[in-house]
Amino acid sequence: MMSIMDIVLKTAEEEQAKSVSRISLEVGAKSGVVVDALEFAFDMVSRETIAENAVLDIEYVPLKGECLSCGCLFESKEFLICSKCGNFARAISGQELNIKSIEVK
Ligand SMILES: [Zn+2]
Repeated sequence: MMSIMDIVLKTAEEEQAKSVSRISLEVGAKSGVVVDALEFAFDMVSRETIAENAVLDIEYVPLKGECLSCGCLFESKEFLICSKCGNFARAISGQELNIKSIEVK
């Protein structure tokens, strides 16, 4: 969360913004990020910064895998095991924590 805040504040500074109104984040299902904890952490780190009143807009990205054997694409809640052939798959989304956009004033 600290590093996100660094990016937000740096971006705001570059834009010579007076305040940050909205931060859109993409949070992967398997990123290890707990949204409640993220919001709480954001409240803490944004306090007394220009992002203090920013709205946190969180978009949930489901875990998606691509099978290493048959190449099929699938969505999963938990495990990266191919739903067709049962082999291992690699994650193609669901592990990210990205800043999608930052709105400033
Ligand atoms: Zn497969």
